[in-house]
Amino acid sequence: MEADLFDQRRLLELQAVDTTLTQLDQRRRRLDDDQAIPTARRDLQVLRDRAASLKADIADADRDIKRIEQEVELVTKRAEADRRRMASGSAPPKELEGLQSELESLARRQSSLEDDELEFMERREGLETELNESERRTEESEAALADAEADRDRRLGELHSETESAASERNRLTGSIPPRLVELYESIHARQPIAAAELVGRRCGSCRIEKSPADMAPIRAAAINEVLRCEECGAILIRTDVGPGADTEVVSDEELDKYTR
Ligand SMILES: [Zn+2]
Repeated sequence: MEADLFDQRRLLELQAVDTTLTQLDQRRRRLDDDQAIPTARRDLQVLRDRAASLKADIADADRDIKRIEQEVELVTKRAEADRRRMASGSAPPKELEGLQSELESLARRQSSLEDDELEFMERREGLETELNESERRTEESEAALADAEADRDRRLGELHSETESAASERNRLTGSIPPRLVELYESIHARQPIAAAELVGRRCGSCRIEKSPADMAPIRAAAINEVLRCEECGAILIRTDVGPGADTEVVSDEELDKYTR
């Protein structure tokens, strides 16, 4: 195949855009695969569940405390009534004995209830402290997660706009390079990431294999508009620093003029 060397060299620009697109795609995949945000979401759910369970425990403790307080009130009222009956002077001695014994039992009951209440209040206090700590950590985790999500969205946004501009650059290039050359490039690009590579010295820029002097002979002898392929990897080899058939000769001013105009 023959093609203007200037057009051949534009394949390097197309290749550079494709390499950029591949890198952008890899960056997007890495972002998609990043487990930091899903892990943070799961950790946050654990914290929220813990806070909810602590709140339920506190509500239980409150119910227990209320129940004890109501019972204390009943005991107190009963004791007051007993004392009034005793003070009235109208109770027979037998009844007084009974009232006295009941008052002692009520006092023991009250003391035991107050011990229970204290225990529940201490337990409630411990739960409250744990809940405060849990809520503080939940807030921290929510803020960290929001930051991480905003950061990821910003990076996805950047990737999206970089991809769009690279894709439009690709369209511009494929529209301005001769179709036959683009077709050849695309067929190679479907097989390998580097479809067009610069020939640097004797080395192919795609497979990096250095050519023997014997392999170089036909390359050096080739006409400047002949489209060369690497025999090792099939990439289109683009000469950027050689003139036709010369080893050290650079492109003449006249040719340079022709290909850079
Ligand atoms: Zn190669």
